[in-house]
Parts: sequence; structure tokens; C-alpha cells
Amino acid sequence: MSSILNADLHCHSVVSDGTLTPEELAARAAVNGVELWALTDHDEIGGQHRAAAAAHAQGMKYLTGTEISITFAGQTVHIVGLGFDADDERMKQGLHQTRGGRGQRAMDMSDSLAAVGIRGAYEGALKYVSNPELISRTHFARFLVETGVCRDTSEVFRKYLTEGKPGFIPHRWATLRDAVSWITDAGGMAVIAHPARYSFSANEEYALFSEFKSHGGQAVEVVTGSHTAAEYVRYADMAREFGLAASRGSDFHSPDESHTDLGTLPYLPGGLTPVWELLANRIQ
Ligand code: AMP
Ligand code: MN
Ligand code: MN
Ligand code: MN
Repeated sequence: MSSILNADLHCHSVVSDGTLTPEELAARAAVNGVELWALTDHDEIGGQHRAAAAAHAQGMKYLTGTEISITFAGQTVHIVGLGFDADDERMKQGLHQTRGGRGQRAMDMSDSLAAVGIRGAYEGALKYVSNPELISRTHFARFLVETGVCRDTSEVFRKYLTEGKPGFIPHRWATLRDAVSWITDAGGMAVIAHPARYSFSANEEYALFSEFKSHGGQAVEVVTGSHTAAEYVRYADMAREFGLAASRGSDFHSPDESHTDLGTLPYLPGGLTPVWELLANRIQ
């Protein structure tokens, strides 16, 4: 398969912090011309069988997916997994453990918001949660928009939910080594998600890519909803430099919140190995 393929290998459903069901996402992806799709809920693979069935019902090919939160050099980094066995017990256990810290973190976030006069945020965020194990900052952001504290979710993140702001609670996620090995031991491919989104120094970024590779990671997102056109070029160069395959995905969460819709990004630049070439035998 060439790089000219409408593959969308990154998005979120109500199983994590998206607002559409796997079936609604599949229908939307198909309308937008997606040929190969993956649902990549945060730290959760509970929607995978539904998503694969919905993809097939819409005439799309499917790769299993997830997006694992890890801590690297003091920052949260996301590692996408593609093409793994969705019934793998070690991966299911690892993700279950990773999700475990979210409940207490959410209560601490709520206390921290209460200290600046925003009350009832935990209960308010819960109204937006479908998966009780997966309460995320996005659900708090929706509550703060609903109550008029902010105009939109990006304003909430800017003012409240990022490092140094009143509602931010530092959290230790999985390790890079664990996330990569859960994915690869389950037959899948690990992908560094939206690398331009982190605020690493050049040395830290080099360390992330090198350690990722040494643990068995094989790919990086080049064309994503969170990169600019200049960043496509920069991370295409990084993929070549580190011998990594390239992925493409919108990171779509919601028709009301996401500025990049499913299947609408530019194709991968030429001269790269698309992840779907290496995962040909994992495509369902
Ligand atoms: P959590 O896993 O609870 O830390 O929440 C992370 C999620 O928050 C990400 O996957 C995004 O969906 C969302 N998010 C993070 N930063 C921003 C931002 N600046 N604007 C909008 N959403 C964001
Ligand atoms: Mn998200
Ligand atoms: Mn992410
Ligand atoms: Mn994502």
C-alpha cells in the first residue's frame, strides 16, 4: 500500500474522552472517505471489538488501536498502539492499572478548582463520563464550558488544566518501556503520538526517540491534527533520521470541539514508510 491512502489512525470515542460512540465515529469516517481506520481511546481497549465491527459494516479496513499515557522526563507523553491483539491479557491488565490513578486525580483536581472558587467540578465532570474508569481533564473542561467559566475547552486548558494552573494535578503514568512492551508483546506497533505537542528540549526529544527505539518502538505520527504543515516536514525528517515508520491520524474527539475532522488531513509525505505497510498482516 502506498502513502496515498486515507488512513485515520487516531481518534477517541465515549469509551475515553470523545463524544461519539465507536459506531458514530465509523459512520463519520466512512462519509469522509476513510479507507483504513483505528479507534485509539486513551488507556483503554474496551471499544475495539465494536469499532472493528462498525468499520466493516461501513466498508472500511480496521487496525486495533489505543493511546497510552506515559511519563517521560517529567512530562506526559502519549504512545499510540496499532495492530495489537485486543484480547491480550497483559495489555488489558497494564491498561487497567494505568487507569487506576484517574479517580483520585480527578478528586484532587476538583479540590484544587474549589480552592479558586469553582465548586462541584468532580460531580460536574462525571456527567460527561461514560466509562467510570476513565475520567479525564477533557470531562472537566466540558463542565467548565457548560457553567460559563470559559468559552471553550481550549480556554479551559489554557487557564486551568495545564502545568502551573489551579486545576492541574501532576500525575505519574506508565513508563515508556512498559507501554511499548505491552503493545509490541501483543503483536502491535508502538507509535510516538503528536511529537510536536511536548515541550522537550532538543536533548530530551532526542532521548525520547532513542529510548523509544531501543525499547522496540517503530513509528512516529507525522501528519496529525495537532501538527502544523512545518511540523509534518520536521517529523518526516525525524522519522527518516531514526528509521521510524510514519503514521497519520486526526485525533478527532468531538464535532463541537475538534478542529480536524476524521479523514481530512493531507496524505503522508513521500519517502516514508507508512505504518500500514509494516502492519499489512494485522489489518482486519
Ligand atoms: P488526561 O488524559 O486526563 O490528562 O487528558 C488529556 C486530554 O486532554 C487529551 O487527550 C486531550 O483530549 C485534552 N487536551 C489536552 N490539552 C488540551 C488543550 N490544550 N486543548 C484541548 N484539549 C486538550
Ligand atoms: Mn483526549
Ligand atoms: Mn494525545
Ligand atoms: Mn489522542
